[in-house]
Amino acid sequence: MLIAHLPSGYILSSYLVERARRLPVRPSWLLVAGMFGAIAPDLDMFYFHFVDMGMKHHHRYPSHWPLLWLGLIAGSLLLARFRREAAAGWLALTFSLGGMLHVSLDTLAGDIWWLAPFVDQRFALVTVTARYKPWWLNFVVHWVFLVELSICAWAVWRWRIRRGWMPGAHSKSTESAC
Ligand SMILES: [Zn+2]
Repeated sequence: MLIAHLPSGYILSSYLVERARRLPVRPSWLLVAGMFGAIAPDLDMFYFHFVDMGMKHHHRYPSHWPLLWLGLIAGSLLLARFRREAAAGWLALTFSLGGMLHVSLDTLAGDIWWLAPFVDQRFALVTVTARYKPWWLNFVVHWVFLVELSICAWAVWRWRIRRGWMPGAHSKSTESAC
C-alpha cells in the first residue's frame, strides 16, 4: 500500500472517537494515536535501508507481524480494562488497532507473514506483477490502486462530515474536528 495508510488511520480513529466520547482521553489524541499506528509498521523502512541495506523484505520484520499487533491489542485492552480512567490504555489500544489495520491492508497486494514468527509462510490477496520501473509504478497502474484512492476519498469524506457534524466545535475546541 502506497498512499492510503495514513488516511485509513484517520478513518479508523475518527469512528473510534465518535464511540468513545466519555473516555478519559482527548479526541485529538485518539486521532493522532490511530493515525500514527496506521503508519508505524513502515517505520521499519529506516532499518531496511540503513541497517539491512535492503537485503531482507521489510514485511519480515516484527513491525509487520500481525501476531505482534494482536498481542499489543490484547495487552492494551487489559490496560484499558483495569485502568479505565487512565488515557494510556485507550491510546495504546487505538495505536495498536491502527497497526493491525496497516498489516491487514498490506495483505491486499503485499506479502504479509500472518503466522510469523511461528510459520514462514507469506500471504497476499493479489499479486502485482513487476513490469515497470520504478517498482511503485506497478502498483499505481494496477487496479489495487483504486482501492487506495477510495480509502483516500473516504478519509476526505469523513473529514468533511466531521467538520459538518460539529459546527460549534471550532469555537470551543479545534481538536474535535482534526
Ligand atoms: Zn507496511
